[in-house]
Amino acid sequence: MIRVRFAPSPTGHLHIGGARTALFNYLFARNNNGKFILRIEDTDRTRSTDEYIEAIIEGMKWLRLEWDEGPFRQTDRFDIYKSYVEKLLKEEKAYYCYCSPEELDERRKEAMAQGKPQKYDRRCRKLEGQGARGLASGPHSGGFAEENESPRRQGAVRFKMPQEGQTVVDDMMRGKVVFENDQLDDLIIMRSDGTPTYNFTVVVDDVDMKITHVIRGDDHLNNTPKQLHIYKALGYEIPLFAHLPMILGADKARLSKRHGATSVMAYKEMGYLPDALVNYLVRLGWSYGDQEVFTREELIKHFSFENVGKSSAVFNPEKLIWLNSQYIIKSNPEELAEMVIPFLENAGTIQKGQGIDKLWLSKAIKTLQERAKTLVELANSLRYYIAEDIEYNEKAKVKFLNEKSRDLLSELKDSLTSLADFSASSLETIFKAIVEKHGIKLGALAQPVRVAITGGTESPGIFEVLEVLGKEKTIKRLEKAIKAI
Ligand code: GLU
Repeated sequence: MIRVRFAPSPTGHLHIGGARTALFNYLFARNNNGKFILRIEDTDRTRSTDEYIEAIIEGMKWLRLEWDEGPFRQTDRFDIYKSYVEKLLKEEKAYYCYCSPEELDERRKEAMAQGKPQKYDRRCRKLEGQGARGLASGPHSGGFAEENESPRRQGAVRFKMPQEGQTVVDDMMRGKVVFENDQLDDLIIMRSDGTPTYNFTVVVDDVDMKITHVIRGDDHLNNTPKQLHIYKALGYEIPLFAHLPMILGADKARLSKRHGATSVMAYKEMGYLPDALVNYLVRLGWSYGDQEVFTREELIKHFSFENVGKSSAVFNPEKLIWLNSQYIIKSNPEELAEMVIPFLENAGTIQKGQGIDKLWLSKAIKTLQERAKTLVELANSLRYYIAEDIEYNEKAKVKFLNEKSRDLLSELKDSLTSLADFSASSLETIFKAIVEKHGIKLGALAQPVRVAITGGTESPGIFEVLEVLGKEKTIKRLEKAIKAI
């Protein structure tokens, strides 16, 4: 049974990179009939907040990345971590360290000045070797710290990393990556305040949650050798690892706010469809022949790590917007109606909670969805359908609402007043009769009408627009234009 997890730290919103990691985990799980687990890694209590946890969950839900288990919170699991820390202490695979941050800092600076590696100098580990008291029973006496500092100071717990040899990470994306053990620090697994740290909790949880594949960003690759030693020390089998290449901006620097919006929910606000964003994210690294647009079912069916590229993908906002327009085109108008309402409210086109006839709205959307690239654009272009009144674009008004068009508009208005069947096809018949009578081109009538109805010179087919707008509003707007002339 394949079990994977997405393990965000709630120190910010769900961002594009995190969402892609979540998506690859989700698709891998679904493709293999496995389980997808959501785990919130909130052990860093100074930077984690409940708001960010909610925001991450909101983002996951919006993208429909449904998890099977969780969300688990690491802060609910401190007892578990503690028991494993104790186990390692007892087995002398970890030790208490009483060096204060100031001392560590000083010694780091010294090491730097001497050109030595700036990692922990293992002073407390060496002291232990010199016969300090039993470690599992707590802070040792006679240690370095107690000589210099308050005897009541709490120790941190450090993990004993091997100091010689190499560690090989066998990665699904990169193959074998070799690390020299003398580069590995005796990392702190429990801070002096009793809170456990990432590299330790991640191993305990991945074991406890029976994770088979750790799929994450390759910014964690350097952590993996450390984690492998913790697996070994705890006597656990190691899972498989896949470290995904980072997403880059156009300038090939790691994607950041400098390149534009990076939070998933910002894309919601900009009028992107969740499925379009998912489709875009999956293509940041994964491919399937030349296909660009995928249904969720197709993604689940075809996803595999064989088709995930080894080099970093570049975030391309133009492609995302193109995909979004494709999704708007193929969405059904009723769904779009549901989605566009908050945008109409935001634009002030309708009042919050005012409600709107959704069937009618979907008819209006049907005339516009070929052209709108985002829901924001769709909402803006719906304005002339919904608002009581419109304003003219000055240039369009000067060009098309003039003496020449006044009589045509009047004539049209009269014909429409008596028209019982206000459908696109009957409207077309009426328009044609008028232009034939005057020996003019359809545009000579249609453009002034377009300006009178929409305020501008661009709109979907005028007959469809009038049918959706309805007789009453059409006639009112024609009258207003005639008056304006
Ligand atoms: N909590 C880590 C992060 O947000 C991810 C850890 C992991 O996937 O192993 O970067």
